[in-house]
Order: sequence, then C-alpha cells, then structure tokens
Amino acid sequence: MTPRVVQGLLLKQRNLGESDLLVEFFTDTLGRLTAIVKGGKRSRKRFFGLLLTAHHLQLHLAPTRWSELWRLEAAELLLPHLGLRRDFRRLMAAGPVMELLYRATASHDPQPAALGLALLTLARLATARSPREMADALAIFLTRLQVEMGFGLQLSRCLQCGRPVAGQGPVRLWLQGGLLCPGCLPEAKASLVSPGLVKGLAAAQSLDLRALARLGFASGLGLEALPILAEAWRRIAGHDLPSLGLAWRILSRARAIP
Ligand SMILES: [Zn+2]
Repeated sequence: MTPRVVQGLLLKQRNLGESDLLVEFFTDTLGRLTAIVKGGKRSRKRFFGLLLTAHHLQLHLAPTRWSELWRLEAAELLLPHLGLRRDFRRLMAAGPVMELLYRATASHDPQPAALGLALLTLARLATARSPREMADALAIFLTRLQVEMGFGLQLSRCLQCGRPVAGQGPVRLWLQGGLLCPGCLPEAKASLVSPGLVKGLAAAQSLDLRALARLGFASGLGLEALPILAEAWRRIAGHDLPSLGLAWRILSRARAIP
C-alpha cells in the first residue's frame, strides 16, 4: 500500500490505549476502512473538532505494517453536517446511515454510489424540520442502499406467479426479494403494504440522485416503511441494527422542530 488522499465519512471511533484512536471511515475510492490516529486523544491541535461522527473529510492516509489498517496523518473538513448536532432527532435519524455503512459493507470494497447516497441523506437530515421528512429521508436511504449493494427488491411483478402487481390493491412485501400479489398472499409470511408505498419504494430505487434528494412519500408512508426496511436490513447485514429501532421509536413520537 502507498500513501493515499481520499474523501470519507466518519462512521465511528473508539479509544485505543492511553492516547490513540481507532476511526472507521467510509471512503470514495477505498470503501470502508479503519485508521489509527496516533496521539489522537491528545493532539488537540492537529485534529481539533475534525473527528466527529458524520463529518465528511479529506483524509491523508499512510500504510502501516498491518495490511487492513491505515494511519491517519492529516484531515480537512469538507462538510460538517452541522444541523445534525443542533437537534437530537436529526442525529438519531442519521444514526442508521453510519451504522449500515459500518455493518453491511465489506472492508476495502469501494461503493462510491453508496457514499453519494449517504451524503445526500445526511444533507437532507441536517436541515429537516418534521419527523415525517426525516423518516422519508431515512426510508429512501434504506431502499436505495439495497439497490446500490445488489439487494434491490423486485417491485413490479409478483415473485411467485410473475403477474404485474400494479392495480391489484394491497400486496405483500417479502423481505428477501420483492412483492407477492393478492392471489399468492395466503401462503406468504410477509408485510402487507399499500400501493402508495410500493410506488414510493419504486421511485426510491430508480430516480437519479438529484431527484432523489427531493423525493417524499405520501403522508406517513416513510414511517410505515421503516420497520419493514429495518427487518430487511437485519437479514442482509446478519446483525442486529439497534440504531434503526431507536430512530423509528423517536420519529414516530417526535414533534416538528420549531
Ligand atoms: Zn402472484
């Protein structure tokens, strides 16, 4: 490995011994990686105010003798997503963005589209005022990330019989693949979803990123989709994702930010 300059989102960090930090980033060209920050707990000048969750940074990385571990030499702030720290509801809604990139991606497997999607979602959450807007942004992130990582749901035809599901009324969403039509419903263990939600999920799967930033679901559907999408992601990640349950609980009770 040679020294690299990359852009990355800070996912999480922890202390290592007396003075060092271990920091997890999701980067544009190297995917998820771990970097050690020598003296990071003490060197307040060099990294002052930089190493915070959800910060988008330019990173100067040097190789170490361990092939999977980098050393962070310097960093510059590109985007602080400051609005997230101004209200706990926004910060809680943003938690799953970082947790999923940490839990559901492989180390050193670049996914530039996933980083773009995460940055778009954080920018939206940082200015969102209503819990509904936050739930929509998070539901859109969860839906689109499935596509970017190759787990997209089949939303136009019934998985079992192959018939188009448009205009058939309520359908069931089977988390390991897509929709089941009313005719194939009885044998299926899957969540019942409204046609409006199917339409919203299909848009979240297919719109380009600029249009995705403006997409909203019909009233309350983003919040309705969250537990279903959370369950799908638990299966994909093979891991419990506590930040998703927490975000849903907070957003389903929260009031708008004045
Ligand atoms: Zn069917």
